[in-house]
Amino acid sequence: MIRYKSTRGGDESKRSTEAIIQGIAADKGLFVPETIPALPFKPEQKTATPYHYSAFHILKSFLPDFTDEELKRCIEGAYDSRFEAAEIAPLVKAGSAYFLELYHGRTAAFKDMALSILPYLLTTAMNKEKEEKKVVILTATSGDTGKAALEGFSDVPGTEIVVFYPKDGVSQVQERQMLTQSGKNTHVFAIRGNFDDAQAGVKKIFNDEAFAAKLAAKGYRLSSANSINIGRLAPQIVYYVYAYIKLLELGAVETGAPMNVVIPTGNFGNILAAYYAKRMGLPVRRLICASNRNKILTDFIRTGVYDANRDFYVTNSPSMDILISSNLERLLYHLSGDSAGETAALMAKLEESRKYCVTGKIREGLKDFYGGFAGVEETNETIGKLYQDEKYLVDTHTAVAYKVYEDYLKETGDGTPAVIASTASPYKFADSVAKSIGLQTDADEFENIRLLHEHTGVAVPDALKNLEGREIRHSGVVDVGGMADAVSGSLE
Ligand SMILES: *Cc1c(COP(=O)(O)O)cnc(C)c1O
Repeated sequence: MIRYKSTRGGDESKRSTEAIIQGIAADKGLFVPETIPALPFKPEQKTATPYHYSAFHILKSFLPDFTDEELKRCIEGAYDSRFEAAEIAPLVKAGSAYFLELYHGRTAAFKDMALSILPYLLTTAMNKEKEEKKVVILTATSGDTGKAALEGFSDVPGTEIVVFYPKDGVSQVQERQMLTQSGKNTHVFAIRGNFDDAQAGVKKIFNDEAFAAKLAAKGYRLSSANSINIGRLAPQIVYYVYAYIKLLELGAVETGAPMNVVIPTGNFGNILAAYYAKRMGLPVRRLICASNRNKILTDFIRTGVYDANRDFYVTNSPSMDILISSNLERLLYHLSGDSAGETAALMAKLEESRKYCVTGKIREGLKDFYGGFAGVEETNETIGKLYQDEKYLVDTHTAVAYKVYEDYLKETGDGTPAVIASTASPYKFADSVAKSIGLQTDADEFENIRLLHEHTGVAVPDALKNLEGREIRHSGVVDVGGMADAVSGSLE
């Protein structure tokens, strides 16, 4: 049975259920599986419900402490008719690639793929571990995680959820989605700072033992819905296997032949899931890591130097406006040959000087990755071109990925069928998308959703309809230093 240990080595190993409840390891490392399981079935195997089938078998191998019945209940509860696409994640060919549309869930973002199931996994784990405290989900968001986590945890018994987002770092639609969230146990705060500040603030609260003791006395314990939680990461592996099944069905690849994956990357969770899929034996040739102007990962993959001493840019793909990608720590760990010592040393350097350099095995392992980036102009041009040539509408993040893929094709000539992780509905970033396809508009984002729909006929997700008419239920704004107080205040 797979157990989980910390990337920094300090903790004894944990059951998957314990790791999900805890979120982050006591030594500040991230939980990683002691071994990576092999694919439990052959992708060419036929089944009527490939998404649910893949989800069951993959989750079973990563979360062996759950019974079959429990996993089935979690999967059925998460991937149900609240997804607006019956196949859950449609694979659509456009231009030179296949777009894996991961945004048909409850909040129109790819975060729904994992955050629809995390509350089920967490509450099941709490039952199994006889956890008596109420779990407080603490989440920093660059826009999409917050809403998806709020929606997933809204009124889930035994939980409270507190979300922090950067005041000027999310789109109008994203902000309104969060501020109108219902549910007695939901709490939302804007912080005066950027996403890295929000994430650092949340990590600080996690590491504050006195604060944890104070909460414990009141009957609470903290956990995380960010992709540092293994309960979020494991469900993300599923759709890469699913995409391969679809490519086989379409006849785009022969059994066993490779695919490439292209992933618009922020916190490195999505691409890490693809890496796990590859390690499980899924035929993935290259993992193409796409960044926006905040191209720290491009530089890292190309040079082996991770240097966060650089300017931070606010772009029109805000979910990728990140300089410290948490999940990279897990990759470093695995590439180093599961060396907690080496990983801990690199993370200490990052904390000390915001910079580290990798050599040897890690550098070698990075060759499976390709890093590229696209600026705001190129992103918008790509949206325009895809719409004009293919009548296919993509959001800003997906456009970054497609542009990087085009660059990759030019540079390498590698025509392996490529799957682009399509991470948000174009309507979530309606301003940029409307302008990019040539609509002249100074309207606000809500009006642009209507305009965009009128012009393209692409269906507006239910989650984004009539947003401006909904009641605003949250209004807190705090300084980074006031985050802990905001949490305690929410639990009174
Ligand atoms: C979260 C997010 C990303 C980045 O995913 P990571 O797993 O953090 O790398 C990309 N695009 C969108 C739209 C997102 O919401």
